[in-house]
Amino acid sequence: MFRNFKSVEKTAYGRGSFDKLGEILEPHRQSGAQYLIFFVDEYFKGNEAFTARIPLQPGDALEYISVAEEPTTELIDGLRDKYLEEKGLPAGVVGIGGGSVLDVAKAISLMFTNEGSSTLYQGLNLIKKPGIFACGVPTISGTGAEVSMTAVLTGPEKKLGLKCDWTVLNQIVLDPDLIATVPNNQWFYTGMDNYIHCVESKTGQYKNTFSEAFGDKSLEMCRRVFLELDRNNPESDELMMVASYMGGLSLTYSEVGVCHALSYGLSKILHIHHGLANCIAFNVLEDVYGDYVQEFKTIVKKHGIELPANQSATWSEDTIDAMVEVAIKLEHMWRHAFGDNWQEVLDRERIKNWFKRM
Ligand code: NAD
Ligand code: ZN
Repeated sequence: MFRNFKSVEKTAYGRGSFDKLGEILEPHRQSGAQYLIFFVDEYFKGNEAFTARIPLQPGDALEYISVAEEPTTELIDGLRDKYLEEKGLPAGVVGIGGGSVLDVAKAISLMFTNEGSSTLYQGLNLIKKPGIFACGVPTISGTGAEVSMTAVLTGPEKKLGLKCDWTVLNQIVLDPDLIATVPNNQWFYTGMDNYIHCVESKTGQYKNTFSEAFGDKSLEMCRRVFLELDRNNPESDELMMVASYMGGLSLTYSEVGVCHALSYGLSKILHIHHGLANCIAFNVLEDVYGDYVQEFKTIVKKHGIELPANQSATWSEDTIDAMVEVAIKLEHMWRHAFGDNWQEVLDRERIKNWFKRM
């Protein structure tokens, strides 16, 4: 498989690097439009000590983003239209938060320069023009959104990313101090998203030495975080932040698989958040991911996580069918997991059975 992907242009790493954000952004204020928009996870609203560290200058905008729902095309279009009308084109955007807020920053950067609704661009290489400068500051680690070439959006028809070279952030700031406050369950779900990225990346036909090198290192760091260290060991947040970065690179050069296809169904139809949806799906995939699922269950137990069980008993046949329809359309994931002749081993009935096991 040939891939020629773009990477993040600049990466700042280290404890305290968040306090360098003003300096990092300064060169990007020189273009005609001077203002920057900071999209910040609503979790930080009211946290004065944190807000004081955001390098706002006169004219800049600070927009808190609620991530109760994953980012939608409607949210992106609405914010883009609002800012263009009220303040004109900004010089750049900065996303401070988890995968959801990073995706907001990535998507809106593109939608400031590409006309019409973001629903027109959900898919591969549909974006027509480069976006404006975009910087990401993760405050929770695992999705790999900080390095990936996609900004995942839920639209009226599908949950699918705006995926192209221009989606990749120009700058990221990885400060392990920022993830210390993530609640345990969420830390686990998003961390397991990374674990699953690495497993799926290496267990399909698109795997290669390049993707596996990142994935194996990321998996090793993930195992240390979840099987060996206490969460309050300072090494833990540092490892998790770098593991997420490497897991993201691993799947960029390979592909996700069965778990993500099912998880997209859970998120699109039942609005279950990505990390949790992945955990619910991965838990029933022994027939595909064997020992990795056993290891996952060991980690679940070690951290006293209670995954929702017997969910399917509460789902109607129509709900399950709707999730199957979302999943089966993700052909690139099935092709990776089962090969070019995936339709010979996979049909709606098999997908339905996985949902029924959840
Ligand atoms: P998230 O951004 O949805 O945040 C999860 C929760 O953690 C929220 O309640 C948030 O307020 C809270 N939180 C964030 N930082 C915190 C902190 N420092 N302290 C306390 N609470 C904090 O979570 P996520 O798992 O990082 O992201 C999921 C999203 O990422 C989904 O929308 C998914 O579709 C997307 N995603 C994108 C990619 C990609 O490549 N672009 C990959 C995987 C997932
Ligand atoms: Zn994921």
